[in-house]
Amino acid sequence: MGTAQSSSSEGRPVVVLPETILEGISGIERAISQQTDWFKKWHDRVVVNHDTSAFTVDGIGDIPLGKWYEGDESKAFRNNPGFIVLGERLGQLVEQVQGFLTASPDGEPHPVDDYTHFMNTLLDLNDLVQHLQNDAWRGLTKMDPLTGVRNRHDMMVELDIERERARRTNTLCSVAMVDLDHFKAINDTYGHVVGDMVLRHVSGMIGDQLRPYDMVYRYGGEEFLLCLPNTDLDTAVMVLERLRVKLDQTTMPYGPGGKELNITASFGVAEIDTVEHIVKTIERADMALYDVKKNGRDAVKAWKGD
Ligand code: GH3
Ligand code: MG
Ligand code: MG
Repeated sequence: MGTAQSSSSEGRPVVVLPETILEGISGIERAISQQTDWFKKWHDRVVVNHDTSAFTVDGIGDIPLGKWYEGDESKAFRNNPGFIVLGERLGQLVEQVQGFLTASPDGEPHPVDDYTHFMNTLLDLNDLVQHLQNDAWRGLTKMDPLTGVRNRHDMMVELDIERERARRTNTLCSVAMVDLDHFKAINDTYGHVVGDMVLRHVSGMIGDQLRPYDMVYRYGGEEFLLCLPNTDLDTAVMVLERLRVKLDQTTMPYGPGGKELNITASFGVAEIDTVEHIVKTIERADMALYDVKKNGRDAVKAWKGD
């Protein structure tokens, strides 16, 4: 009853690097500061002095926050549901700004209602942006700083949610342990900086091979835990085998002078037993992994009973 796996390239990437999120946060901060400057100028000229000459607003791209919204810097936020709402509010802001700009510049004060609506839109925008930022910071705390995969912060809680979901929906969910082979030799031969680059590369590859709702955790140094919801053991083995082969065939140009490096990994996998503690499943995946290590590495093994 496993489902076919589709690449995450169709949706949200499973692994986003922490620096991408941090750059996103800086970008939004810059946009807010430019938006504030814009608003001060706008208020002084248009609202107070009825001078519309310095403003042409044809779309959201003519307002700093809208320019940010439409540009590359907002990429890190596009999967947040609040992002769509922010776009709608920006559209409203543009309409309201246009209302002010086209009002007759004859010294008549702008209607109080228009001003109130405008201020409410601005406050709303402020809230929405704040939420995006908060979500991004919260996301960072759950992220492994080196690889961008999830850290172990909420792993047990999240795995238990998946166990409970599998029980409730009567579906199967598999958990895999992945351990890079002879990784110490990479560090010993090329140094830890190269080791770090290999780790980042491999975790990115793992993410690329999985679906948007699969979960990748950095379990330990060169060990990853994968949670594959709605995936029976046979399908999980197939997915991991594909990942293993991909890794076998991949070379990474991180050696001295761009020398291509290659690394393999060992995989152990078990299906979640929905009435047992999730720790049991992890232990079983770990036992299967141990067998793979014992028998020469670079293979996938499923736990099929004591
Ligand atoms: P095996 O095939 O039996 O798993 O061998 P191994 O060398 O991969 O396993 P071992 O447990 O002996 O060594 C794991 C190494 O992973 C040792 C440690 O220095 C390295 N490591 C752990 N975390 C990091 C990290 O964040 N960066 C780097 N560069 N190395 C790390
Ligand atoms: Mg290890
Ligand atoms: Mg290892």
